[in-house]
Amino acid sequence: MLQISAVVPVFNEEESLSELTQWISRVMNDHGFSYEIILVNDGSTDDSWAEISCLAKDNGNIKGINFTRNYGKSAALDAGFQKAQGKVVITLDADLQDSPDEIPELFQMIHEQGYDVVSGWKKERHDPITKTIPSRFFNAVTRWISGIKLHDFNCGLKAYKLKVVKNIQVYGEMHRYIPLLAKWNGFGKIGEKVVQHQARKYGVSKFGIERFLNGFLDLISVSFVHRYKKKPMHFFGLLGTLSFVSGFLITCWLIFQKIYGLKKGLEVREIVDQPLFFLALVALIIGVQLFVTGFIAELMTSNQSKESEYKIDEEINFDY
Ligand code: UDP
Ligand code: MG
Repeated sequence: MLQISAVVPVFNEEESLSELTQWISRVMNDHGFSYEIILVNDGSTDDSWAEISCLAKDNGNIKGINFTRNYGKSAALDAGFQKAQGKVVITLDADLQDSPDEIPELFQMIHEQGYDVVSGWKKERHDPITKTIPSRFFNAVTRWISGIKLHDFNCGLKAYKLKVVKNIQVYGEMHRYIPLLAKWNGFGKIGEKVVQHQARKYGVSKFGIERFLNGFLDLISVSFVHRYKKKPMHFFGLLGTLSFVSGFLITCWLIFQKIYGLKKGLEVREIVDQPLFFLALVALIIGVQLFVTGFIAELMTSNQSKESEYKIDEEINFDY
């Protein structure tokens, strides 16, 4: 069994791939690790795939996955995770901002200290201020919502036990929340390691301020999904029950008024005319509707197949 799988998402990074794979291979060889480097080309429009094919020809440890188009960093990581075979899986960004020199210590922390996940912390970060300030805010909110005490959730350099990556599904923009996904799936031993960080050497960043904002919306929906995805009935059922119960109470109140003669001598027509009666009727109907919605959602999620969101065009150097 391989000791380490390095998984690298690639989107228009042709200039750095050769340097990156040489550096990773050097570190692996210096420490005698058996390894594979899985480069996932996420629909690059430059020559990244040609470069990956070329590198994979020269070194059998380098493996390539080519997406049919750009699906995003989360999909690229997920594809790499599906294929990974190493005891420890390490993710790095392709742009040389993350240093492969960190690999041996990350491996140790997973393999010997028993962490499920170790997340890098770019304590001295070399990115423009338009990234670092929103990032601080993002990390504070994520810490608060998740209860996981990490400083740098979005660091591309992370290490995992193999069983962690095989038991989570990274989709949408979820790459920012992989430690949360791990924790929610029962892999709660999450550590942190201060890592070196370089400024981007070639090309441009693919993530601007708008993706940070999207990130916050994700965090809300992700927490919501985590709570209710498996049990939509619990959410809709609760709303439905509240609505039904309030309709029921109003109806009781109306009947009480009728029977005990608080409004003696009223005709049935006069009760029906009351706004309160209509409110009760609406609440009862909405209550039943929401309950049924929840029930259908429950049936649908339990039948849902786990079809991946991305399509693969070609694979190189995988013999499985
Ligand atoms: N990336 C990707 N798909 C995308 C955007 C980015 O695979 O749609 C990869 C990119 O090639 C890099 C990593 O994700 O390896 C991080 O991207 P980037 O360096 O642009 O992010 P930043 O460091 O600026 O936050
Ligand atoms: Mg980068």
